Amino acid sequence: MKFFRRNNQIDETQITIIEELRKKISQSGMPPHVQEIALKELDLFSKMNPSSAEYTITLTYIEYLVSLPWNKKTSDNLNLERAERILNERHYGLYEVKNRILEHLAVKILSSNKNPRILIVDDEEITRKNLEHVLKKENYDVVTAKNGVEALRLLDEQKFEIVLTDIKMEGVDGFAILEKVKAKYSNTKVIMITAYAAVDSAVEAIKRGAFHYIAKPFKIEEVKLSIKQAVEDRLSTISTKGSILCFAGPPGTGKTSIGKSIADALGRKFARISLGGIKDEAEIRGHRRTYAGAKPGRIIEEIRRTGVANPVLMLDEIDKICQDFKGDPASALLEALDPEQNYAFIDHYLDVPFDLSGVMFIVTANIPDNIQHALLDRMEIIEFSGYTEEEKKNIALKHLIPKQIAEQGLTEFPPEFTDEAILKIIQEYTREAGIRNLERMIATICRKIATEVVKGNKARNSVKITPEVVEFYLGPRRFYFEVADAKNRVGVVTGLVWTETGGDIIFVEAAKMKGKGELILTGSLGNIMKESAQAALSYVKSNSSMFGISEDTFENYDIHIHVPQGAIPKDGPSAGATIAMALISLFTNRLARRDVAITGELTLSGRILPVGGIKEKILAAKRAGVKTVIIPHRNRVDIDSLPENFKNGVEIIFMEKIGDIVDKILI
Ligand code: ADP
Repeated sequence: MKFFRRNNQIDETQITIIEELRKKISQSGMPPHVQEIALKELDLFSKMNPSSAEYTITLTYIEYLVSLPWNKKTSDNLNLERAERILNERHYGLYEVKNRILEHLAVKILSSNKNPRILIVDDEEITRKNLEHVLKKENYDVVTAKNGVEALRLLDEQKFEIVLTDIKMEGVDGFAILEKVKAKYSNTKVIMITAYAAVDSAVEAIKRGAFHYIAKPFKIEEVKLSIKQAVEDRLSTISTKGSILCFAGPPGTGKTSIGKSIADALGRKFARISLGGIKDEAEIRGHRRTYAGAKPGRIIEEIRRTGVANPVLMLDEIDKICQDFKGDPASALLEALDPEQNYAFIDHYLDVPFDLSGVMFIVTANIPDNIQHALLDRMEIIEFSGYTEEEKKNIALKHLIPKQIAEQGLTEFPPEFTDEAILKIIQEYTREAGIRNLERMIATICRKIATEVVKGNKARNSVKITPEVVEFYLGPRRFYFEVADAKNRVGVVTGLVWTETGGDIIFVEAAKMKGKGELILTGSLGNIMKESAQAALSYVKSNSSMFGISEDTFENYDIHIHVPQGAIPKDGPSAGATIAMALISLFTNRLARRDVAITGELTLSGRILPVGGIKEKILAAKRAGVKTVIIPHRNRVDIDSLPENFKNGVEIIFMEKIGDIVDKILI
């Protein structure tokens, strides 16, 4: 677009642009205080030289403001049975997860069924009585107060969903009431009324958290509409108040897809923001407009993209945000997630508050322990764990295969996967807690069949997928049972670790060579793991006689502890017991059983402390072919809460101290 200025006269086109923007501003549904600012910007804009850089920046800014869904919302479909049906149809198992989600929705539904209670505060009797009469007829539960003092007393005694108050009153005024409500009931909406239709007090009221502003003389329809909006707004925020759902678990366990189903069940739009590796606060909260190329942050941008102010917004990998010199992304997130503050979230680019209280935030994390504490405090953690082989097989049969058949265009002659073929894919072509690769492998097979049909190499008949057909399409197996196929050795003990992709097995190797008692540690061990190794060595040295090791042996050797797969960083205290066993095996020269895996933190006195991720570790042990898993006695509660069939195929032994398990591992 090009503009010309002749004799300082503003070109016709520009006038049209300005008028169009003015119209868009008034139709955008922005709250009055934002409209005020937008109009001021428009005023500045109208005086700018079209060839200046500022002109384009301001134009983009105003267009961005008017494009936001300020008051556009979808209405919630609060039907618990429907939600349950959607979750069950789309997701296999995950009973605990689904129950927690349904409970969450039930609270919301219960709160929505009550008649909202309204407090009317006005010192003019006529207005008070009028409003009371009209609102009672609308089925609201109405209580009135004739002045601020009485209103404060009532607010002390009871809770109201909506407060409708005059601003200007003798003594205690509307602002004092607003302040009290905000401090006591964060979810109560306050609508302010005043005869002094000064924009200043409206702006002030909204800034301090009022929901809406009505100027006297008002039409009763206007009040009714405002109350209806306040009620709807309250409902859409109920489930986010106080607790934000955090789905925690390894990749591919269904976190994102369940989030999407929740949105569908509620009839809301869905959007996702990946937070992994975000360092710069501006990515969340936007750049100030003074920067060249300034942009709004991802939260506001996603909301704009969905076109509504109340989507389900999934924030992925909240445990992976980093903190560095470019501000603190976590604190920006905190502000977005905090129901006490997010009704006036400030994006630096927008520079005006945007109400995020209607957004239902769901966050996901691989390891919740890594989430910053301030954020964690506001979340209700729902754990997604890895799947057993049986569960994976059922998900493949009921969901993944039908989905891939449809996607690859094989609906008319669907390939028929046998149970053995699916198990072969799970065991020999994937090694994961979730089912992402399983889905990928099934997709590959379906795609190859589709290609052959198209090329004419295959008839349009349903193919039976047997283990042999799997091997034909996917090539030689990629994974082996590391443990079942390995030989027992001296100084090599199997351990279990918990990583962000689920549980995994490790082999701790210990070797000795002539030297002076030095300890060498290799294999990308983190500090905590290094300390565990030192503690394990000290423990074995100081208790050598108990294990039949002569004390002076240690002085003559250097000891090397290595954990293979050196490229993968490893840390955490849970390898302490495994390292100690590797050392005992080494110095007693007894073979260690490969198919026994240990996890547990070791103290210097040989006691074993509980560790995290037990369920994931047991799944990993089963995947690797481990027969016996030894875990700390104090982790018994984790085992007791697991379903019986989960423990099929592995023996679980509890230990209180290292001495308990020597003969279980060493031959
Ligand atoms: P995450 O977000 O945990 O990484 P996704 O939701 O992306 O996992 O899931 C990966 C794939 O697995 C998706 O296609 C999803 O539909 C499927 N999936 C995962 N869990 C289940 C389940 N319990 N039932 C049906 N499909 C599932």
